[in-house]
Amino acid sequence: MRHLTILGATGSIGKNTLNVVDRFPDRFSVKALTAGKNISLLADQIKRFSPELAVVYSETDALQLKERLLPDNCTEILFGEDGYRAAAVHPDVDTVVSAIVGAAGLLPTLAAIDAGKHIALANKETLVMAGDIVMSRVREKKVSILPVDSEHSAIFQCLAGNRKKDFKKILLTASGGPFRNLPADQFKSITPEKALAHPTWEMGAKISIDSATLMNKGLEVIEAKHLFDVPHQKIEVVIHPQSIIHSMVAYIDGSVIAQMGTPDMKGAIAYALSCPERLPLNLPLPDFAAIGALTFETPDMVKFPCLAHAFAACEAGGTLPCVLNAANEVAVDAFLNKRIGFTQIPEVIDHTMGKHNVISVPEIDEILLADQWARKSAEKWVERFAIKENI
Ligand code: NAD
Ligand code: MG
Repeated sequence: MRHLTILGATGSIGKNTLNVVDRFPDRFSVKALTAGKNISLLADQIKRFSPELAVVYSETDALQLKERLLPDNCTEILFGEDGYRAAAVHPDVDTVVSAIVGAAGLLPTLAAIDAGKHIALANKETLVMAGDIVMSRVREKKVSILPVDSEHSAIFQCLAGNRKKDFKKILLTASGGPFRNLPADQFKSITPEKALAHPTWEMGAKISIDSATLMNKGLEVIEAKHLFDVPHQKIEVVIHPQSIIHSMVAYIDGSVIAQMGTPDMKGAIAYALSCPERLPLNLPLPDFAAIGALTFETPDMVKFPCLAHAFAACEAGGTLPCVLNAANEVAVDAFLNKRIGFTQIPEVIDHTMGKHNVISVPEIDEILLADQWARKSAEKWVERFAIKENI
């Protein structure tokens, strides 16, 4: 029996995780659930799974949640940073599903590792911001960190049973997002509504925009570098619009091993929680005859500069990936709120990265300071762009 904390339970990954948990009650029990502001869904989840602890963003949210759960609630309700930490280190928990979106996922995930919990990692931002620190704590605490991200789950599966010295490179696949075939001169007309409509995956808002800019793939390159201890020169991004191959690993003898499946995050989530066993999820197999062809392309880094920025940050290392991530979060939020246009997302990131003095081997406090600095700096660029648009 695995005893779980699910950080970000009300999100796309959180809901899929609870769906898996619900189907295998003899294997999983839920001890703690956290959410941001979606009180009504969290209340439903508490009623269904009866966790010992639930955590929300603010004190007001906590009071509202308590009211919703009246009259017979047995779940302790906490809020804010201390609350998220308490869920991450809960004494009855052995595995933490890290599925908060963005930089907010870093500290609770680190706290969980420090408390000796195994991690099922969806929050790629944790490794982008502080990959070296996180992975060294994982080794120190002898916990496992298993990928929920579908590409990394695929790579993990393709590496299994092979010797590290036979490894040649990772082929990280990307759907290409909704604007793969849109001419660059039409990118200015991209609205949040269009960008949120991903062709193959159903995800939260931030990762959907990241997929449309290809920043998601850039963040995944950095995630893969840390998770599998591979230099970025050995990670190649391949556009594969059908999203049937979830990633591949090439070996020195010329063999390439691919992991395939119908796009559904429940597969990767279940494997991160049950590996090396596979759960009878009964997901539909890809209908290869109906699909007809699996196609591949090279990514266009001119049309999608976010991917180039991510490779540059990955190569520089230190605090730069954290700055890339923070600037991206600010820019994506500004785009979703219609303050800047789609093509200004990479511009905000580029300007912010350009002004940063990189610390090459940062401590966690320096990472957090770089994150705050980058947010302020990126916000200034957003304001400038927003003013220009209004003139
Ligand atoms: P989402 O927006 O659907 O859900 C995010 C969750 O985090 C929600 O429960 C929300 O309430 C909570 N949250 C948001 N801000 C918070 C804050 N400041 N403090 C505490 N909690 C907060 O996101 P998602 O699509 O489920 O993605 C979650 C993570 O998983 C991201 O890092 C994403 O990159 C990664 N991921 C997602 C998918 C996917 O298919 N959705 C695939 C691979 C990786
Ligand atoms: Mg992914």
